[in-house]
Amino acid sequence: MEEITALAKRRGFIFPSSEIYGGVNGAWDYGPVGVELKRNVREAWWRDIVELRDDVVGLDSSILMHPDVWRASGHLENFHDQMVDCRTCKKRFRADHITGPNCPACGNATLTEPRAFNMMFKTQSGALEGASSEVYLRPETAQGMFVDFRLVYQTARKKPPFGIAQIGKAFRNEITPGNFTFRSREFEVMELEYFVPSRPEGASLERYAQWVRDRYAWWLALGMQPERLRKHEYSGADLAHYSRATTDIEYDYPFGWGELEGIAHRGTFDLAHHVEASGKDLSFFDEATKESYLPEVIEPALGVDRALLVFLIDAYERETDRTVLHFHPRLAPYKVAVFPLVRNKSEIVELAAGIERGLRPAMRTVFDDSGNVGKRYYRQDEIGTPYCVTVDYESLGQADVTVRDRDTKAQERVSIDRLKEYLLPRIRAG
Ligand code: ATP
Repeated sequence: MEEITALAKRRGFIFPSSEIYGGVNGAWDYGPVGVELKRNVREAWWRDIVELRDDVVGLDSSILMHPDVWRASGHLENFHDQMVDCRTCKKRFRADHITGPNCPACGNATLTEPRAFNMMFKTQSGALEGASSEVYLRPETAQGMFVDFRLVYQTARKKPPFGIAQIGKAFRNEITPGNFTFRSREFEVMELEYFVPSRPEGASLERYAQWVRDRYAWWLALGMQPERLRKHEYSGADLAHYSRATTDIEYDYPFGWGELEGIAHRGTFDLAHHVEASGKDLSFFDEATKESYLPEVIEPALGVDRALLVFLIDAYERETDRTVLHFHPRLAPYKVAVFPLVRNKSEIVELAAGIERGLRPAMRTVFDDSGNVGKRYYRQDEIGTPYCVTVDYESLGQADVTVRDRDTKAQERVSIDRLKEYLLPRIRAG
């Protein structure tokens, strides 16, 4: 994990937030390379969940919502972690992270009893201070999909089964943020609320099982190593109070197995509570049967930052002579790097620059002319660029270039006028 954190900083993936002031716990900045990777993670999910389906539409709801939303959803009452404090060293821990009677930091047996701690960030909206202006930063995007349910299905003319997807910031005042970006206080989630007719009985459970299979397959399709992924199905007392069934997709992190994505069958819990609290009818009226009903909800939810971290860990390999990130080409920050072999021959530099500009509208490119070619390969391997194109002396006469493959290091001569059609299928399919 330390190696990955160091690489992430050195190559411009992820920096500590406000580092010149000593940083701030649980918040991270994505640098020039990281921001590209993050966009690709979001876009891979959005494309597969929204664009390539005809039964899911998108939403971008606000971060600040009416405070009653959180009362109805149960977050004000239940969104707690149990924490304990150490009376000696004053450190604070999540109760479920403590294994014995002693403080994990100073070793003294001076821990308090567990106390409930609400994880929502509270702030003021407007100039007046007081209970009436209290608002919360959302700890998930899901409630936006529930409170807008009616507006969405009416304007999009959808009927269950259909889904609403959203990507956006969420905030949780985690007691112990850590393991790099794995547990942050400010992060981004990608959530799908998939609404299913309540009848026939059992149909929603089948949908749930289908989503578990589909979501698992998604990770594998993006190149994840199968032995580092597993499913963990909850049962009995381990199930959240609102859930009829839940499966976590877990990853084998350097610090052990942990959650990557959760797929929950939430029944009618959320819509029913919003109907009760708002007094507004959120049921779906089926024209065919002339019946109104509250649909059941299947929710696959994952963190963008946590997914990015997992892609980074999974892609990371240290070989004897280089460090390489074997990103799936869909995720790679840059798809192709273009180099002039030398800097002091203007025809070569201009030809390389022209090739890079020519490819730019079709794929994410980067131009690099600093250091020798070996160093440039090294840099591109470390940020996971699948292909490097080198323009050399022969290129001037033969109108071809060397294309080097990141994973195999194999090199091939490709004519310049065929370069785009050579690269495009490779960076799409991986
Ligand atoms: P945990 O048990 O790890 O606290 P959770 O069960 O509360 O997580 P969910 O509410 O299911 O998590 O959140 C959905 C997804 O959002 C998680 O699978 C994870 O990918 C991501 N996520 C949740 N909390 C954080 C966080 N503090 N930092 C980064 N990502 C998070």
